[in-house]
Parts: sequence; C-alpha cells; structure tokens
Amino acid sequence: MSKNRGSVRLRIAPSPTGYLHLGTVRTALFNYLFARVNNGKFLLRIEDTDLKRSSDTMVDSIIRGLKWVGFEWDEDILFQSDHFDEYREKALELYNKGLAYWCYCTPEEIKERKSTYKKSKRRWMYDRKCYQLSEEDKKRFEEEGRAKALRFFINDGVTEFKDLIHGEIKRENSEIEDFVLLKADGSPTYNLAVVVDDHRMKISHILRGDDHISNTPKQILLYKAFGWDIPRFGHLPLILSKDKTKLSKRKDAVDIFDYKKEGFLPEGMINYLVLLGWSPKNEEEIFSLAELEEKFTLENIHPTPAVFDRDRLLWLNGEWLRRLSLEEVVKRLEIYLKENNFEIENNDYLIKVVKAMGNRVNKLKDFIEIGSYFFTDDFAYDEEGFKKRIYPGVEIRLRELINKFNGLDPFDENNMESALRELSEELKCKAGELIHPVRLGVSGMTFGPGLFELLEVLGKEKVIKRLKRFVDFIEKKKRTTDLHG
Ligand code: GLU
Repeated sequence: MSKNRGSVRLRIAPSPTGYLHLGTVRTALFNYLFARVNNGKFLLRIEDTDLKRSSDTMVDSIIRGLKWVGFEWDEDILFQSDHFDEYREKALELYNKGLAYWCYCTPEEIKERKSTYKKSKRRWMYDRKCYQLSEEDKKRFEEEGRAKALRFFINDGVTEFKDLIHGEIKRENSEIEDFVLLKADGSPTYNLAVVVDDHRMKISHILRGDDHISNTPKQILLYKAFGWDIPRFGHLPLILSKDKTKLSKRKDAVDIFDYKKEGFLPEGMINYLVLLGWSPKNEEEIFSLAELEEKFTLENIHPTPAVFDRDRLLWLNGEWLRRLSLEEVVKRLEIYLKENNFEIENNDYLIKVVKAMGNRVNKLKDFIEIGSYFFTDDFAYDEEGFKKRIYPGVEIRLRELINKFNGLDPFDENNMESALRELSEELKCKAGELIHPVRLGVSGMTFGPGLFELLEVLGKEKVIKRLKRFVDFIEKKKRTTDLHG
C-alpha cells in the first residue's frame, strides 16, 4: 500500500465548554489513527471562541484527558482565542469581495419574524432583510451605532462532496441560510474559524461527528469563496445510549475522567472506543493503540450509529487488566489506591493481591469495591452472610481454629488447609462450617479468592487479629440477642 507521506494532516478540535466527552475521544482516536496509519500528522486545536462558556479548567481537563488515553500531537496546540483578529480580517476580506453583508437585525426582530414563519408553517431561514437594505437605512443604522453581524451570502447552486464514510452528499444551496461569520460582538462563528484554521493548519482530512454534516456544505462554500483547497470530510456515526437515543450526560457517564475514576484503563477505553463504529476484517477484538496504528482503515467504519455497551467496555477492560504485566497493573493500582486514600503495604503485597483477585476484577475500582479488606481492617460483616453462615457455637470452633493457626509455620495455604480440615474432622463438622465463617471474619464478605490463598495473602498477624475480633463480635451479638431476644 502506498503511504501518503507528509501530506496527511488531521486534527481534533474540541470546544472547552465542557469536560472531555467520550464521543470526542472516539473522534480524536479515528483522526489520530488515520494520521498514524498514513505517516501523517495529528494536531490539537482548542476551539475557545465562546469566551463566556470556555474556561481554563475545561481546557486543562481536555488536554489531560487526551494525554491520559495516550494521544500525542505533533505540533503546538492552536488556541482559537489567540487569533480573533485574523478571523475578523478574513471575514472582512469576503465582505470586500462582495460575498458577505452586514446584518443589523436584532435578536428580537429575528425572533418575531421567525414566529410569523412558524405560524404560517414555513421553515425559517434568515430572510435576507439586511441584504436588501437601502443605502439610507444602512447609513441610519450605522449612525445609530446598531450592533451588526456579518452574514455570508449563499449563491444559488448545489454543494456536494464525497464523504469518506457516507459517500456522496448533496445539498441544494437554496436550503442553506446566509449564515453568520462574525457575531454582533465581533467574535467569529464556528464555521468561519474552523475553515480559517483548517486551512492555516493544512488539514487534509476532517473526521468528525455526524452532527456536523449540515455544517460541511457551508464550510465548502467558504473554502470556495476564499479560493482554498477543500479537505476531505468524513462524518462518524453518533454514539447512542442503550435506549437508542443520543448518548448524554443525563443518562450516561460521558466525561472521560468518570471512567478514569472508576479505574478503567486507557488501553481498555481505546480498545472499546475504536470498536464503537469500526471493526477489523477478521474476528479480532483486542487491540492496543500501537496495533491500531498499523491496522486501522476508514473503509471499516460503519455508517450507522453505534450503541454504547458498558458491559462490553467492562469486559474489554478486564481483558486488558490481565494482559498488562503484573508489575504494570501493580504500578497503576498503587496510584489508584493512593488517589482513593488507601494505605499501601508494599509492592510484593500488591502483586499477591492482584494475583489472588485474578479475573474477579475488571477495573481498578473493583479492588476496593470487592477487595477493600486487602487494604483496610475497617469493614463491616455482610448481614445476609452473617445470618446464613453463623450458627450457635461457631465462636468455640473458631477459637480452636485460631489456636491451630497460631501454631503454623509457615503460615501457608497448605498448612492452613490441613489444619482446618483436621479440626473439622476432630469436631465432626463439615469443612464448610469453618470455611464460610472464616471468610466472613477476615473479609466481611461471602465471596472472593480461594479462602486459603486469601489467608496467605493477608498473612498470619492480620488473620489471627481479624478472627479474634470476629469471635468477639459474635459473642457480643449473642449476649445482646440473649438479653433482648
Ligand atoms: N469544536 C467542534 C466540536 O467540538 C469541532 C468540530 C469539527 O471538528 O469541525 O464539535
């Protein structure tokens, strides 16, 4: 395959009016991969033209989020807020060529005319009132100091392009409004700034969400008006919620950091997100970013919306937890635990914890949700488990077991298992009548890794201490129930 060296340039252009959205990460991913596969460049542009709604916190969060999933950009970040003068200059260039006109209509006036259209069931588009203004009216408005926006005049004709994902897309120009280039406050609109910058940054391919399809003909008309080369466009299908409506903050976690907080791995996120809309030619499912940089092709993007499936994400993330080296998982777990205020004993201990949890965990948070007892003594006993597994006299048996455990050296799985089974024979009870209470006593839970493995990881001191505490708890409970029951 011939590689398009050097000339392929893509970008991701988030608006910092919210945190980094899952959909933006997926769009970034497809742009990044297409750039890498073609030995091209991947760039980042921050579209912060809406000064009221943009904030440094959001910018920072977006950049950290993109880095966290593993993206690197090849040139300095471009901030649109640094270029207001140029957008204005470019817009005025169109005005000077007679391709744009000032619009003095106030929002109230437009609202009123819009509602008249609505009443007579006509679709509203800017009605070119200001295009037809007489010279006197213009002069009067100027003298009054009326705020004015610059509108792009749409000529008759048809605008078409070959979308990289959807194929031919055609739009009658008569359906396109004379859209605004400069707002009344002098700031540029998205459609103006995006074209000026994509040209400045020599962007060759633009992959973005389907929700931008209606903007593309407008942007193509601007490229033509400026006399610039038009990049190739590809519109990615939307990501839908399980209920087939658009993925949204109200129903789903959409901020990438929500996933980081839950202990998802960047590898899992990338792997899942690429499969949201793209699939390889074979049945393969597990991909690293590096592998995707070789294998990704635009042809395998499906034009229909993709449904977000959290269970699949969870499964893939679990696969990645088991694919990464033990040292790597431990390193990440250590950071994660610290962020969640858990004290960490040492690396060897964490290695044992990770091994013992095996495929019971799919994300880092699972370690503290179903394995918090590895990191703290402060846990409650599962109530249902207690009712089911704790029987009269169990405390006497547990005391005997504590004695046996106390004498063990080494305190390992085999010795503990023999000691417990020996005791169950002596007491003529089932091993389970000891096993279940012991698990509850040392972990507060009714499930988890194999009991003896768990005990060995915890170590003699903790096991004995926790079992004694449990016996005290049972006795205390017995006394209070005797008194009150
Ligand atoms: N700032 C736009 C967005 O976040 C960028 C769209 C584009 O890629 O042109 O949707």
